[in-house]
Amino acid sequence: MSNFKVSTICVQEGYAPKNGEPRVLPIYQSTTYKYDSSETVGKLFDLQEDGFFYSRIGNPTLDAVEKKIAALEGGVGAMLTSSGQAAVMISVLNICEAGDHIVSSSTIYGGTTNLFGVTLKKFGIDVTFVDPDSSVEELMAAANEHTKLFYAETLANPSLVVTDIEKFAKAAHANNVPLIIDNTFATPLNCRPFEFGADIVVHSTSKYMDGHAVALGGVIVDSGKFDWNNGKFAALCTPDESYHGVVYTEHFKEAAYIAKARVQLMRDLGAIPSANTAFLLNLGLETLHLRVPRHCENAMAVARYLEANEKITWVNYPGLPSSKYHALAQKYMPNGTCGVVSFGVKGGREAAMKFMDSLKLAAIVVHVADARTSVLHPASTTHRQLTDEQLVKAGVGPDLIRMSIGIEDIEDILSDIKQALEQI
Ligand SMILES: *Cc1c(COP(=O)(O)O)cnc(C)c1O
Repeated sequence: MSNFKVSTICVQEGYAPKNGEPRVLPIYQSTTYKYDSSETVGKLFDLQEDGFFYSRIGNPTLDAVEKKIAALEGGVGAMLTSSGQAAVMISVLNICEAGDHIVSSSTIYGGTTNLFGVTLKKFGIDVTFVDPDSSVEELMAAANEHTKLFYAETLANPSLVVTDIEKFAKAAHANNVPLIIDNTFATPLNCRPFEFGADIVVHSTSKYMDGHAVALGGVIVDSGKFDWNNGKFAALCTPDESYHGVVYTEHFKEAAYIAKARVQLMRDLGAIPSANTAFLLNLGLETLHLRVPRHCENAMAVARYLEANEKITWVNYPGLPSSKYHALAQKYMPNGTCGVVSFGVKGGREAAMKFMDSLKLAAIVVHVADARTSVLHPASTTHRQLTDEQLVKAGVGPDLIRMSIGIEDIEDILSDIKQALEQI
């Protein structure tokens, strides 16, 4: 891995063309690869030689992007997946089976809450959701002898709770299990969870990494730091009969986890993105270091503006000194948090809908974290099945508006918000 600074990694890492080769990362639109001898192919299958043989397991375009993201996070390896959901699922299934248990922060992405609380339960994997503000002792107490991992989001979507990663890592490591952190909202530009003790990082690359709302995707990154040989993770340290008896920790050393995720789970589950999708993701990554600071700067200005407006009842943005999570945000994300701001308007549901319908530059979309400013009213869309009482319990009151601040000119964003507020 190179010793380049983060901006250079964003632009150049992962692909180094030789004399006369394309300057831009090519889209290897091929499911398969040609070899001169069947012996070579045999060696590839036996994992005795490095090389591509079928694009479900590996593809040169994906490989370049995986190397770039691994370098951004400071990990030993990464694997792209077809969505953020697939990344989360594989990151857990790689070390959990029926009878196992996970401890997860309760303030996580809704899709992940369902995956853990409903679908993985059907697989026989149990979950305990914990308040992320719990003490380290309370976190430890949530684990039992079957616990295989702790899970949290650096910056939770949509609550914007900032996780004390060191506290979660301490609780996980006291139980001899890894901490998996979903770093989607912070991006490695604002936080590198491995530096605070996380062992595995996952992302929905559909958000800031792509950044243009063109390519659904996910990624798993392995820090290479967790010692799997502690008696709890036999699947990594004993022969895998489904793969000619390979012992991942012996064959792949510190990259055992990410290698197993690829040759065993990606082989079996097949949630792989296309080369074209990886190419689009790479274009997004090339400007990540320019876009993320702009998202944060604009979001901070919007948060300050809203906080000073008398039609706004409350503003939730961890960059604001008034935020409960300001100190944690300063510690874990000193360069800024993200572009998402949530707030409440006086007049509840009705006023919130009127405000949103009056916006001209900001569009109503079910997405966050792309270049265009967008807005969503969870009570009338993603959470519309809930009653007002249930909404308050879920932390998304009927007055809550979630705004994802884009990278347009801040004056235009603010005047759009101003004119829409004047309509209510
Ligand atoms: C969007 C999101 C996901 C799911 O990612 P998809 O790419 O939509 O499958 C997971 N975690 C977080 C924090 C997200 O914001």
